[in-house]
Amino acid sequence: MSDNIQRFIFDSFGIRGELVQLETSSQQMVLEHNYPPAIAELLQQVAAVTVLMTTTIKFEGKLSVQLQTPNELKMLVVQANHKLGYRGIARYDKGADYSQKSFQELTKGGRLSITIEPKKGKRYQGYVELGQKSFEACIENYFNQSEQLKTKIWLFNNEQKVTGLMLQALPDMLNQDSFDHLVFLANTLTTDECLNTESDVLLNRLFHQESVRDLMSHPVNFHCGCSRKKMLDSVALFPAEEIEEILQEKGRVPVKCEFCLNRFEFNAIDIKSHKAVAGNSTQH
Ligand SMILES: [Zn+2]
Repeated sequence: MSDNIQRFIFDSFGIRGELVQLETSSQQMVLEHNYPPAIAELLQQVAAVTVLMTTTIKFEGKLSVQLQTPNELKMLVVQANHKLGYRGIARYDKGADYSQKSFQELTKGGRLSITIEPKKGKRYQGYVELGQKSFEACIENYFNQSEQLKTKIWLFNNEQKVTGLMLQALPDMLNQDSFDHLVFLANTLTTDECLNTESDVLLNRLFHQESVRDLMSHPVNFHCGCSRKKMLDSVALFPAEEIEEILQEKGRVPVKCEFCLNRFEFNAIDIKSHKAVAGNSTQH
């Protein structure tokens, strides 16, 4: 399976679709985090849906899907940019047992949000109602209710990889029957074929009798976006006494990116010169 997304359209029906497959990138996302399987799988599912949604954004910027709960799974977030680079992380109670936990139990009382941050223009935030049996059902519900867009999503995954299919009615959809017909075809998909077949073969197998037009195929990557400069910016926000204490004890301030686990180290001169630059810039 290669990491990519395909967009396609059924012109005569007025229905569009997307198929995403993530393997290498999703393994990079969970690498060395030692997530319990239930959390790793949910993170992969959220990554697939985040990429599906990001593909339709028509501007430069970022889209994030974030879950916060009062339970053992405290927080889960996936962020993707318009170039289809994404990263994700989960924070959770490491002592809890997740083996028998359903999606509803993991997310009970939580809050699920979608945030779109264009490079230029206004930030948008929408809330997705929880309470459905699965993550994809919540997102379908969000599109159907809030966005008034008839949407169906299928997710197939294990700890290593995920395949996601989305069908969405365009404003000029011919009729409900054509949507139901495509849903009927997609309902025949099995986890085994979706995780072991390249997306173009899968689409051809599924819709070969329909008049479907390919719009684009785009690679998807794991992309953290952290840098020495950004890390130093965040270190500079620590209280001065705290930095001083760490420097005296260790001679440097070590920090780790919580997404990709890259390590950075800053000495007294790095921090001093950064503060001087920051100080200068605020005076102008
Ligand atoms: Zn990073």
